[in-house]
Amino acid sequence: MLVDLHNHTPLCNHAQGTIDAYIESAIKNNTNIFGFSDHAPMNFDPKYRMKFEEMLGYEKKILDAKKKYKNKITILLGYEVDYLPNKMDRRVLDADVDYLIGSVHFLEGWGFDNPEFLGKWKEQNIDEIWQKYFDTIEEMANTKLFDIVGHFDLIKVFKFMPTKEILPMAKKALLAIKKSGMVLELNVAGYRKDVKEAYPSKELLEGAYKLDIPITFASDAHKPEQVALFNDEITKLARSVGYTKCAYFEKREMKFLNF
Ligand SMILES: [Zn+2]
Ligand SMILES: [Zn+2]
Repeated sequence: MLVDLHNHTPLCNHAQGTIDAYIESAIKNNTNIFGFSDHAPMNFDPKYRMKFEEMLGYEKKILDAKKKYKNKITILLGYEVDYLPNKMDRRVLDADVDYLIGSVHFLEGWGFDNPEFLGKWKEQNIDEIWQKYFDTIEEMANTKLFDIVGHFDLIKVFKFMPTKEILPMAKKALLAIKKSGMVLELNVAGYRKDVKEAYPSKELLEGAYKLDIPITFASDAHKPEQVALFNDEITKLARSVGYTKCAYFEKREMKFLNF
């Protein structure tokens, strides 16, 4: 992957491998720009994220690595932040980083992508779950707090698909993303999950392309071996839709590279 902005570290308690190992893996796979965006702290569901008191240490480690590898690869610093109204913290939102990824992993406190809470899927109408998910993405975009939309259609993770057409359900979210100036990531984690395809689907990516919404690429690696996996698949997918450049951020400023 030329640009790969969504990667984790063991600080979130569910990823493995040293920062050096992730970077070595990226270099081996000819990545030009590699970003860490570990799960930011929040006073909610603390076991899947770093603690507030670990932020400075995390940032220092990434910045040290940026210096160490500067002749081989560009390292960027970010956070993946859960969009949860009233739970997001200024210490994260105002952190001195290259970018923030905004992700929806929770609908009214329900961690819908967590296999521990699979039972909840049967308690609600499937179309309503999907619509609520995209409405929450729309709400997130409207806050203009973030640079990148994490895994835009993560709601398909277990392949519980809606009965209605998806693109119309996502339309308002896409318009809000366009208006907010955010970037969509092409995230390969879906290939590792039941749904076995990228986030977002080709259909939604076409919808984004029509609105001229920029894209970036994301391994969403939780292990060094996952860095740049499925690179060919998402590069082809992006090209097939018409994309020729991908975005990245330095100090919250959007820049582009041709791919
Ligand atoms: Zn994670
Ligand atoms: Zn995520």
